[in-house]
Amino acid sequence: MSIISNSLKRIKPSPTIAVTQKARELRAAGKDVIGLGAGEPDFDTPENIKDAAIKAIKDGETKYTAVDGTPALKKAIVEKFKRENNLEYSTDQITVGTGGKQVLYNTFMATLNKGDEVIIPAPFWVSYPDMVLLAGGKPKKIRCDEKDGFKLTPKKLKSAISKKTKWLILNSPSNPTGAGYSKEEIENLATVLIKNKKIHILSDDIYEHIKYDNFNFFTIAQVSKLKDRTLTMNGVSKSYAMTGWRIGYAAGPKDIIKAIGKIQSQSTSNPSSVSQAAAVEALNGKQDFIQQRSDAFKERRDFVVKSLNSIKGISCLKPNGAFYVFPSCKKLLGKKTKLKTDSDFVEKLLEKANVAVVQGSAFGLDGYFRISYATSMEKLKVAMERIKSFCESL
Ligand code: PMP
Ligand code: GLU
Repeated sequence: MSIISNSLKRIKPSPTIAVTQKARELRAAGKDVIGLGAGEPDFDTPENIKDAAIKAIKDGETKYTAVDGTPALKKAIVEKFKRENNLEYSTDQITVGTGGKQVLYNTFMATLNKGDEVIIPAPFWVSYPDMVLLAGGKPKKIRCDEKDGFKLTPKKLKSAISKKTKWLILNSPSNPTGAGYSKEEIENLATVLIKNKKIHILSDDIYEHIKYDNFNFFTIAQVSKLKDRTLTMNGVSKSYAMTGWRIGYAAGPKDIIKAIGKIQSQSTSNPSSVSQAAAVEALNGKQDFIQQRSDAFKERRDFVVKSLNSIKGISCLKPNGAFYVFPSCKKLLGKKTKLKTDSDFVEKLLEKANVAVVQGSAFGLDGYFRISYATSMEKLKVAMERIKSFCESL
């Protein structure tokens, strides 16, 4: 009998983390690999945030805190929702975890019974389906086509809903496509959801601040009729370049928030006290670098989209947020190139051209690949030349 549990056998390790690790190892072995796999900003955490963490250490904020977040951080989160999203919450509607990832994991663990369905628009962030599977739920992946900007339409949503649907996950701007839903698009989805009173909505807003071209960010809890059944997840990882600090949070119905805390009290307890102090400064401190960094990301996005579209066989939509693009490599698959799948394409690209990207199938849509352009322009320029030469050599 295997020592490994049956529930663990249902899932696989994170493919985005696997690609990032592979690129790291190849570089350590002396290979000149450019990693466009990692989903994290290349910028450093701003100085005022680092200073707040150092002060917290010196002031002795080094003990256990309340399991689901310090009063100071919960207050900063309440104010953030009011200031940026026009949403009112009390502190007992807020939970803080070790990254948005833990908050999502706890949510599914706390709410899913065997066979409960979670609607996941595809392409999706790699961890959603596996977290659902681990919790005993059933991921219901709904294919969202390039012609719809990779976004869920009300019609598709309607046909995906069943008696067993417990959650719908929305992620805007999206990982892996960068697509952002407009206010109108969210309201149109909300019209379907308002009629189905049992469904809860999990809004993953982690890329809220990384947006371009005057894209107006809007989160579904702002539709007042749905606020009572929406869990809005966010975090400091992407907006404040704090991936290593591991702070994420959510706001929503008190019973769900309490249940998430219960799991945390029996697993990891509080997120790091020092990181929480840093997150307070991130949310309350100056915000001007967010725009500066978005401007830098925009320049990279424009360059990457233009470069990719100049390559024969590759086509790429221009997204309005996050730091990913999701180009199609379908025209390069087939007998002529001897590449059958996007995974073959990605594997050969790494082997022959030393560029690491992630296959679209990992995100639930075959024939595409994800590029994270959260890296310097110099590296992006070399990477785009390598991708071009590689594609032209096929
Ligand atoms: N949601 C999405 C869509 C993400 O891309 C990530 C990044 N891995 C997360 C949630 C979780 O981020 P973190 O755990 O660093 O807060
Ligand atoms: N969100 C990032 C990515 O998609 C980080 C890695 C992960 O947690 O999946 O690459």
